[in-house]
Amino acid sequence: MSFEFHDEAALAVSTAANTASIAAAAEGPGFDSLGVAPEILKAILHAGYPTPTDVQALAVPAALTGADLLVSAKTGSGKTAAFVWPALQRILDARLDPAKKRIKGQPQGPRVLVLAPTRELAMQVSRACMQYGHGVQGLRIAHVVGGVPYQAQLKALRGPLDMLIATPGRLLDLMGSGAAILSQVEMLVLDEADRMLDMGFIDDITTIAQAIPAQRQTLMFSATFAGNVGTLARELTRDPQRINVASHTDTHAQIEQRLHWADSLHHKHALLEQLLADRNVDQAVVFTSTQRDADELAWKLGEIGHSVAALHGGMPQGRRNRVLQGLRQRQLRVLVATDVAARGIDVPSITHVINYGLPMKAEDYVHRIGRTGRAGRTGLAITLAERRDVGMIRRIERFTTQRISAAVVPGLEPKLAPPSDKPSGERSFGRPGGKPFAGGGKPFAPGRKPGFGGPGKARGEREFGAGRDFAGKPAGPRRGGFGR
Ligand code: AMP
Repeated sequence: MSFEFHDEAALAVSTAANTASIAAAAEGPGFDSLGVAPEILKAILHAGYPTPTDVQALAVPAALTGADLLVSAKTGSGKTAAFVWPALQRILDARLDPAKKRIKGQPQGPRVLVLAPTRELAMQVSRACMQYGHGVQGLRIAHVVGGVPYQAQLKALRGPLDMLIATPGRLLDLMGSGAAILSQVEMLVLDEADRMLDMGFIDDITTIAQAIPAQRQTLMFSATFAGNVGTLARELTRDPQRINVASHTDTHAQIEQRLHWADSLHHKHALLEQLLADRNVDQAVVFTSTQRDADELAWKLGEIGHSVAALHGGMPQGRRNRVLQGLRQRQLRVLVATDVAARGIDVPSITHVINYGLPMKAEDYVHRIGRTGRAGRTGLAITLAERRDVGMIRRIERFTTQRISAAVVPGLEPKLAPPSDKPSGERSFGRPGGKPFAGGGKPFAPGRKPGFGGPGKARGEREFGAGRDFAGKPAGPRRGGFGR
């Protein structure tokens, strides 16, 4: 396979053309002009969306022509539907094609394969396929992800299949044992391809792609197509169309971003506690930097009465699923999560994202805040930073090309001056007296409560969480000492 593209700029569909199509989409050609079959259209209309999103308006008609696509669209933009709808259409078309008739006794592997970086995202995609494919008679979908027993997956792969959604590692295992047959795949979708490469899946993806007929359609979704992702795109696609709907420099207008400077870990705890006490918090995702911190913080929040659970990659898949289910069903108000596990969380009622521990990479910040402000709603993303975090805050601001404005919680203002490392020409921020936090609430009094995470315990010294998470026992209001 070969095609010419040299760099990101050369790949980009001209901005003017893109803008024109986006404007056209915004003006209103509705879902019926996308070109999908009535049974798919019915499911879309049933979802109650007002109009196609930009990425849907651009990518769906392009995908329906059979072209390969390289698409950049931010999370929450409706990108899943942008590949699921054409995928379903392909399945319907194949059923009408006598040359593709399924013959009993011969392998009946999937026609569409979707690869996703995490189990959560794979399952999110799988749910979207079921939702939008509701009216497609006899639609057979399977997902294979790591961390769960093989048996049910082997069984699912044995039957005739239309769609398979997989994380690369587990799929490769199943291919190795002969259980996964990819010889009938007509459409390959790589969701969050950049993330898959970050996670080290490049060889797995290449091996999987080699097992799929070359005469396929390939749709790649990725925040960027520079570097390794561009190289992979060159290998996997033919003459692709580039659709760039949004980038990491997007303004995220629907998400208000705030920064609170904390003088110490203790101060940060007090800020978090106060922020979560705000009645405007419908549901919140609190991010930590490590799995251990996630367990520990969830435990502590549970101790002071929050309905809370941790979610991270070190938990068994069954428990992760139950936690997500609890979040979706609103049995949980607070989720304490790490970056990897939180990918793919699509719960529109998440009103707040709180960065308690900063991400390792600036781009993860964008994915984190994208957990709120979904499906046309607004959201608030709050970052709690200590002075030592200033380097990462600046990297995030450079990456997003936006300043994160500083705010204070009345009564919990930082006593230390804000970090001085500021880009030239910009005003200092984080000063006491900055934008106050709207939630109001109790004033900070050091002796008010012991404060969680009290002194004397080194970070990660012991693991909390076992038996404390939502999955094991719905976290009801619990009272008790802090940092016990
Ligand atoms: P994503 O993770 O980018 O696929 O975002 C998916 C979210 O957007 C889900 O909550 C969908 O239900 C929602 N969504 C998908 N299509 C639309 C649409 N046309 N209008 C509004 N929301 C949509």
